[in-house]
Amino acid sequence: MGLLDGKKAAIFGVANDRSIAWAISEALHAEGAELAFTFAGEILEKRVRPLAEGIGSRIILPCDVTKDEEIEKVFTRLKQEWGGLDIMIHAIAFANKEDLANPYVQTSRHGFHLAMDVSAYSMVALARHAAPLMEGRGGSMLTLTYMGSEKVIPNYNVMGVAKAALEASVRYLAHDLGPKGIRVNAISAGPIRTLAASGIADFKEMLHHVSERAPLKRNIDATEVGKTALFLCSEWGSAITGEVLHVDAGYSIMGK
Ligand code: NAP
Repeated sequence: MGLLDGKKAAIFGVANDRSIAWAISEALHAEGAELAFTFAGEILEKRVRPLAEGIGSRIILPCDVTKDEEIEKVFTRLKQEWGGLDIMIHAIAFANKEDLANPYVQTSRHGFHLAMDVSAYSMVALARHAAPLMEGRGGSMLTLTYMGSEKVIPNYNVMGVAKAALEASVRYLAHDLGPKGIRVNAISAGPIRTLAASGIADFKEMLHHVSERAPLKRNIDATEVGKTALFLCSEWGSAITGEVLHVDAGYSIMGK
């Protein structure tokens, strides 16, 4: 018997099999959850569809989170197919490449808005649509963040500011939705090689730095985020909400 038998989970943010959202999907699926996936464009559909179908998912829908009508269609379909929702995973972020390389002070108004919209506001929009489907079921929402929200990580720039807004949103959403029995949390993951990470200048150096300084003297892998997501989204995490949990080999506790 699986920990998530009979549970329905919507996953936003699988780009390929290296995505953190995919590792989370595998962990939830292994415990019996039924999954629905979204993809952000035709090119991604080609990569997401085979992965999703490989674990028996029938619901695979387009969703660019900057488009309200696409978000709405996803949740309408989930309501039709499932009648409700237990888990929502938000693993989405985007910033212009130049904003992840130039000094932060040069961030354009458009670049700032874009990073905030895709990486922080999207969680609020998805939560607003997911909440009515979770009422009465004790639902759980989870997003992905990074410690560039708390400390300056050179080159993370506008994404660090967007992650700070995302983490604050987790707390405000937890407050809003808690009375309905819905929990909202974030995992602050250490650096992992993924498509999104390849946009960050000097990412290799970040990995090296973490493996030297983190208490566990290594980097993390996506399956470790998957296991923590399972904990937070299942009964095991039933009293945890509004939390940002670091899954980073301990790196974030270090002062030097
Ligand atoms: P990833 O595989 O590239 O996933 C990022 C996802 O965001 C992709 O599926 C991407 O689709 C999607 N996305 C971007 N813009 C979108 C939009 N407008 N609408 C819908 N989806 C959109 O990279 P990842 O590293 O697993 O990232 C997942 C989350 O983990 C992100 O929030 C990231 O900041 C966070 N995180 C990553 C690390 C790390 O080191 N990798 C560490 C801590 C936190 P497209 O490819 O089409 O843009």
